Amino acid sequence: MIDNKYAVGIVGCGGMGGGHAIAIASGTGNAVWNDDSNEGTPWEGDMNSDISQKLTLAGIYDIDPARQKWAADRGFRNYDSYEDMLADENIDIILIATPNDVHREQAIAAMRAGKHVLCEKPVTPTSEELEEILAVSKETGMVFYPRQNRRWDKDFRIIKKIYDEKLVGETFNIECRVQGSRGIPGDWRGMKKHGGGMMLDWGVHLLDRLLIMVPEKITKVFCKLTNITNDEVDDGFKMHITFENGLTSVIEVGTCHFLSLPLWYINGTDGTAQIDNWDCEGKIARLTSWEDKDATPILAGAGLTKTMAPRKGNSVDFLELPEVDFDNNELYTNLVDTINGTAEQLVTGEEALRVLKLMEAAFESSDKGVVVDFE
Ligand code: NAD
Repeated sequence: MIDNKYAVGIVGCGGMGGGHAIAIASGTGNAVWNDDSNEGTPWEGDMNSDISQKLTLAGIYDIDPARQKWAADRGFRNYDSYEDMLADENIDIILIATPNDVHREQAIAAMRAGKHVLCEKPVTPTSEELEEILAVSKETGMVFYPRQNRRWDKDFRIIKKIYDEKLVGETFNIECRVQGSRGIPGDWRGMKKHGGGMMLDWGVHLLDRLLIMVPEKITKVFCKLTNITNDEVDDGFKMHITFENGLTSVIEVGTCHFLSLPLWYINGTDGTAQIDNWDCEGKIARLTSWEDKDATPILAGAGLTKTMAPRKGNSVDFLELPEVDFDNNELYTNLVDTINGTAEQLVTGEEALRVLKLMEAAFESSDKGVVVDFE
């Protein structure tokens, strides 16, 4: 502890770790990625809870001297090595923000040194590695907390509200996509040995959110990974998931998409909802009556159609997306409360394990070109 606050040591002070350092040091908690053009701008969303009285930055360690200097230039303490950081008795929490392949060894070393761990996603590239971590967490009693921060994205909160409150009736299909056109980043994310690839990068967020929203067993998975801009690791994927209750989902990540489909598109028995972009523009079309007796055929291409003719009159209402109110810093307050034993852990290692197993089913499906049974 430092000044009665939980002291955080950050290992890996690159884009994300640098953002964390600035955000924790400034007391704002939630962090965005930082690079030279974006000085780790602390989160500017709604922060209903203040974490500045709960967490403080002890210092950072990065193997790259340039990043050590970056931190020192901002007045952050540098440790000479990871071992040096782990030996600091003031540190309570190690925040791991290194490339994915070193999370396992760093998390285990931290917990064995008596530190709790907040670990960037994906917590590990494989479920086997995470199982090792969870065994050490159980053995040592140290909290292992996956940083699945995108559960607090506004677009997801809106869709979850629509789903939970049945604002489009019984949902039978959920589609979520993130699509860009810049290929896979030219850093470790393009390398297999570092746990690169878009499934492990964006896929882990999208699947984590789907699984906490839909509390059903998954029965079938079909996935096709893409290698359009990168041969070594996937630069995107399209995945079809079937839940035990029949609900289907399409999850897609693309990095060679010069026009983007909506972030979310969901279908229910009484309507359809769509979120177009991260500004959360979009709408709900909600059925008021199935009766639309005098449907007249429309010309559709070279033929006529009555089935696909747009609804007339007022049998559908177009509604604004619902308002949502949430605390962007909830992950941090929950981490502290979990350590204090005063709250249930909101993002658990077991949830992360289920997501990793689902990703492994997706890899198998794509390799073999088959539908894979799951759970
Ligand atoms: P990055 O390459 O910008 O930074 C990684 C840093 O780790 C580098 O400075 C590197 O020198 C350092 N490093 C590498 N090996 C190390 C070691 N053994 N010991 C100490 N330092 C070491 O990468 P990034 O974009 O910051 O990603 C880091 C982690 O954060 C990844 O797991 C990534 O998936 C995750 N991330 C999460 C989000 C999110 O929204 N939750 C966003 C971006 C990145």
